[in-house]
Amino acid sequence: MAPGSKQAGERGRPAYFVGPWDLNRDLACLPATPGDGTVVLVESRAKGSALPYHRQKLVLVLSALHHFADELAAAGHEVEIINAETYVEGLRVHVREHRSEKIVALAPREWGLYRSLAAADRSGELGAPLELHDDGGQGGHFLLTRDEFADWADGRKALRMHEFYAFMRKRSGWLMERGKPLGGRWSFDTKNRKFPRDEPVPDVPRHRPDALTRAQIERVAAWPGHWGDLSAETFGWPVTRRQALAELRDFFAHRADGFGPYQDAMLTDAPWLWHLRLSAALNLSLLHPQEVCERIVAEQAAGRMPLASAEGLLRQVLGWREFMRGIYWLKMPELRARNRLGAERALPAFFWDPSLTDMHCMQQCVGQVRATGYAHHIQRLMVLGNFALLAGIEPIEISHWFWAAFVDAYEWVELPNVHGMAVFADDSFTTKPYAASASYINKMSDYCAGCRYDPKRRTGDSACPFNALYWAFMHRHRGVLEDNPRLGVLYRTWDRWDDAQRTAILDQAEAFLGAMPAAEHEWTFSDDRG
Ligand code: SF4
Repeated sequence: MAPGSKQAGERGRPAYFVGPWDLNRDLACLPATPGDGTVVLVESRAKGSALPYHRQKLVLVLSALHHFADELAAAGHEVEIINAETYVEGLRVHVREHRSEKIVALAPREWGLYRSLAAADRSGELGAPLELHDDGGQGGHFLLTRDEFADWADGRKALRMHEFYAFMRKRSGWLMERGKPLGGRWSFDTKNRKFPRDEPVPDVPRHRPDALTRAQIERVAAWPGHWGDLSAETFGWPVTRRQALAELRDFFAHRADGFGPYQDAMLTDAPWLWHLRLSAALNLSLLHPQEVCERIVAEQAAGRMPLASAEGLLRQVLGWREFMRGIYWLKMPELRARNRLGAERALPAFFWDPSLTDMHCMQQCVGQVRATGYAHHIQRLMVLGNFALLAGIEPIEISHWFWAAFVDAYEWVELPNVHGMAVFADDSFTTKPYAASASYINKMSDYCAGCRYDPKRRTGDSACPFNALYWAFMHRHRGVLEDNPRLGVLYRTWDRWDDAQRTAILDQAEAFLGAMPAAEHEWTFSDDRG
């Protein structure tokens, strides 16, 4: 018998399933020693076509996956990339051909695949037992295991990010001094709302596509039904760990000091500002959150990063990111169906084509996402999400848009952010809707200066739509929002106005919404087709 061949009934070595978001050699979904099993990566056609994903997102995921496969092969691993209809189908084919002893994987980060893998395991469809490891804690990507987050949440009346963040700061000891937060406060947000009037915006590195990435660009460009600009001349996302680390170094060398003060600012035709730009690389596991947090703490300790900047960034990675992922697993699958405010309006067509609106802030933010697959947190929350909230866009419609349109969006992060933070479809982990009129956008951006609308007017042809929409939203949801102590003052203002004023505002909002064309969908989302 030839060496390595198997007798009838004999099982082969394990298959190690590496999801396209598990691209890191330290994760428990890889064999400890090359040769202990085959690393299996699957390109799922169903997943790739479940939404009209941004073309740069598809290229990023595919290029990162192929680069990682090459890196593993160079390190002596046996690697197979399978193109299959679904992840489950790819694994089934591999197990059948190799008679794999078992499948080792990290728990998938998205509910759809988690459920379909578990179902296939239960029914025996995979052909080998499935050994799932937690995607957090030792050998995982996140800092907490799913059980650790559930333990933190257990018994709490309300789930609040600031309490979770304090728990994570104490647990890690990061930016802590003798058990207290460094600088005496957990958050330095009040110092982080400056506008860079005369500050030159720093350049950011572009990671030029190599032959492998260019091949994926050509491949994706030929696929129908996807969205977003794509060319080899402009694509520049980091697709390897080496590039992600270079981006991290560049951030700390050139942008870290400005990150805090200017993190909420928005400037015309300036997508990157002082932002880290590594959410996509983090979400593919090219970087581990622990190394990013440790670097932030080290830069602050060495005096190279102001405390307000360091704390603001640490809160995003250690606080918000882990909190959103914990909430997702606590609340799925019900979270998808939540619609606290009963919003039912279809997504406006200008979320896909910004030339269909004359609102300069929406043109800028949607246009930037179409060009790059990226917008920073305030553009997402206070322009795009705020508009969806005020206009009453159905939560799952705007959620699918964020999922499809952003290079860093996966359901575990976008769904709690969109449903909880942006459109208040779930009120169990946020205190109030992030609703804002034009005055916020005018304060934090230069968009209004280049707009045909007047941010100070509520009615009339030149009035900014955000203003009438804001008051109509507050009026529409008075029964839900009035008792919120942070919103009561708004209703006292509304009540002071006379009937004619209030009617004019409501008519203005209704006329705007009535004239807003809805997007036409040519796709039907199914989370089972992962
Ligand atoms: Fe946006 Fe209104 Fe400002 Fe125009 S005036 S940029 S629509 S907030």
